[in-house]
Amino acid sequence: MTPSRIALLIFIAALITAFFSFDLQSYLTLETLKTQQAAIAGYRNDHPGMAIAVYGLVYVAVTGLSLPGAAILTLAGGAVFGLLWGTVIVSFASSIGATLAFLAARFLFRDAVKSKFGDRLQAIDAGIAKEGGLYLFTLRLVPVFPFFVINLAMGLTNLKTSTFYWISQVGMLAGTLVYVNAGTQLGQMESLAGILSPGLLGSFVLLGVFPLIANKIVAAVKANKIYAKWTKPAHFDNNIVVIGAGSGGLVTSYIAAAVKAKVTLIEKHKMGGDCLNTGCVPSKALIRSAKWLAHVKRAAEFGIKKADVDFDFADVMERVQAVIKTVEPHDSVQRYSDLGVAVIEGEAKILSPWEVRVSTGGKIHTLTTRAIVIAAGARPLVPPIPGIEAIGYLTSDSIWALRELPKRLLVLGGGPIGSELAQSFARFGSAVTQMEKAPRLLVREDSDVSDIVMAKFRQEGINVLVGHTAQEFIIDNGEKILLAEHQGEVVRIAFDQVLLAIGRVANTQGYGLEELGVEVSAKGTVAVNDFQETNYPNIFAVGDVAGPYQFTHTAAHQAWYAAVNALFGSFKKFRTDYSVIPWSTFIDPEVARVGLNEQEATEQGIAYEISTYHIDDLDRAIADGEAHGFVKVLTPPGKDRILGVTIVGEHAGDLLAEFVLAMKYKIGLNKLLGTIHIYPTMAEANKYVAGVWKRNHAPQGLLLWVARFHDWRRG
Ligand SMILES: Cc1cc2nc3c(=O)[nH]c(=O)nc-3n(C[C@H](O)[C@H](O)[C@H](O)COP(=O)(O)OP(=O)(O)OC[C@H]3O[C@@H](n4cnc5c(N)ncnc54)[C@H](O)[C@@H]3O)c2cc1C
Repeated sequence: MTPSRIALLIFIAALITAFFSFDLQSYLTLETLKTQQAAIAGYRNDHPGMAIAVYGLVYVAVTGLSLPGAAILTLAGGAVFGLLWGTVIVSFASSIGATLAFLAARFLFRDAVKSKFGDRLQAIDAGIAKEGGLYLFTLRLVPVFPFFVINLAMGLTNLKTSTFYWISQVGMLAGTLVYVNAGTQLGQMESLAGILSPGLLGSFVLLGVFPLIANKIVAAVKANKIYAKWTKPAHFDNNIVVIGAGSGGLVTSYIAAAVKAKVTLIEKHKMGGDCLNTGCVPSKALIRSAKWLAHVKRAAEFGIKKADVDFDFADVMERVQAVIKTVEPHDSVQRYSDLGVAVIEGEAKILSPWEVRVSTGGKIHTLTTRAIVIAAGARPLVPPIPGIEAIGYLTSDSIWALRELPKRLLVLGGGPIGSELAQSFARFGSAVTQMEKAPRLLVREDSDVSDIVMAKFRQEGINVLVGHTAQEFIIDNGEKILLAEHQGEVVRIAFDQVLLAIGRVANTQGYGLEELGVEVSAKGTVAVNDFQETNYPNIFAVGDVAGPYQFTHTAAHQAWYAAVNALFGSFKKFRTDYSVIPWSTFIDPEVARVGLNEQEATEQGIAYEISTYHIDDLDRAIADGEAHGFVKVLTPPGKDRILGVTIVGEHAGDLLAEFVLAMKYKIGLNKLLGTIHIYPTMAEANKYVAGVWKRNHAPQGLLLWVARFHDWRRG
């Protein structure tokens, strides 16, 4: 705790101690108030301004310090100043006092709470940012919720101080009126208990839930307004129409068909979308061939004197296509038709919230549907760098058509896609330069991860240029050149082909979203709420087009929520659960992560400790010649709860699965350590990192006594 916090804490503690030691509480009783009423009223008549000031200050002090007696003080307000002035003074004094208590709680404890429970607080903060005002208003309206608890608890959240103040003032008004009014009848009052009769309490509860109901009504009115200009069909051909047959669209249709809904899936290009045709599948097939080559180059390490390879890059790329062909039936029209999905190969356009037009083979169909799920994916970002169009470029869409290996390949982008392709092409023999604007590759990962990856890439001959910003493409003497800025200097990079891998943009244009006014977020994705709903509650979006993640498994995960909410949302809606999202970058060494890493925990102010196991010590990794990398687990200090895991090494993505399960079902490292792992496997690394954690938390004091016990037993 900082000195200023300690000083404030001592000051508050001293005031509270004084209050109780001098028994000031005894002045804040109904009896004292009744006996002193005449004297206080006399003082008020003689010194009205002073009376208001003293009363107001005492009120602020009592509420600000969360002392007992606010109810009596409120009655006194009515008894001394009457209904109108009593209400005005109490209303301001109680709001100011509440805000002081709120600010004190925030100043003293928010950082500590954040560092201890940061990951949970984040979810609360997100809820407060969205609907905190409404919750506070409800709590304030119902006087059964203790005043001081609300002040202190809200101080620990991220609620804005001004919002807290004015909502408190408005929300407490009804309760204040009741108490001040009761104070005007002080003579007839026997106890505090009678002020809130069950009937009055009931009315307050009704008042309290009113804002929540009003919120629902506002949402319904808003929805009606947005639908007002469209004519709703009398009946629908479909329960769901899905636009796009990538991972998101396929899984949505699959789930809808499984629960016997009538679903039509529309795909304008290739079934399977990006993942099958230009993304995960071809890239992993290419990586496999490249890795095979890399192994051959290491033949001597494995006791093989000589291993010559001869290959044709075109054959490698044909194998990639063969792999796609083999996987294709999983996502085919035939398979989905057999599952009960009506598949149309054509281009979809949304005409109204309930109508989708499909153009296919010169014919146009209009489908009516209760709900629409947009799963239109994303495309590679082409930055507006001068000269880019003239020079020609490759993207993750077009690179699969190459049959000739580029001699010099420039890869723009140091993220997962750029890194996977840069390493593969380098392994085939391209002279690869990989350029990244940030100071390191894989910037979302911790710097120790980037360091390992960059060292490995450089060792494999990749010219890794970080902190470089592309400025202009030129052709100089027939040679393609990129001019880049690095530390104020212009750097010239010559190349034959350039691959753009600097991000992906959601497909939000050209199929009706603009005409309908479907909202697009600041990031350029279709804006969705926690239920995957767009601003039209019957239009949903999933996958790359919606974000926030751009993975096949997250698209499939969101698809479940979209399908279920679209079909059964009128009974129960489910919020998409993003609590445990894993991913992997399939470079060598593989990098996989779930939950927080160090840089995210630090940014979010979440306290953590690290347990690291270095894989160079693992028997199986040594036997396989893959003794490198680590498993790093973040846990809250002193607690057996996994906040996040990063694995760098062979099969990191597969190894991570155990931690994904552990995090999802709140299994700690103790249990992982108590689970048998097969010897010798890479998966033992997971057990060993749990062992590192256990050793770091061994009860040293107790062990000292156990050692003494053994000494004593030996005599
Ligand atoms: C090189 C590369 C490697 C990747 N590797 C991985 C990986 O290893 N693991 C991983 O999890 N993710 C990986 N990804 C990401 C993954 O491919 C995407 O996250 C995933 O494909 C998103 O699925 P989606 O359904 O949202 O969109 P998509 O797969 O893009 O599908 C959208 C579909 O909608 C269709 N469409 C669009 N508009 C219309 C319209 N108007 N009418 C009809 N059809 C329309 C498109 O033709 C497309 O087929 C990789 C991506 C790339 C580029």
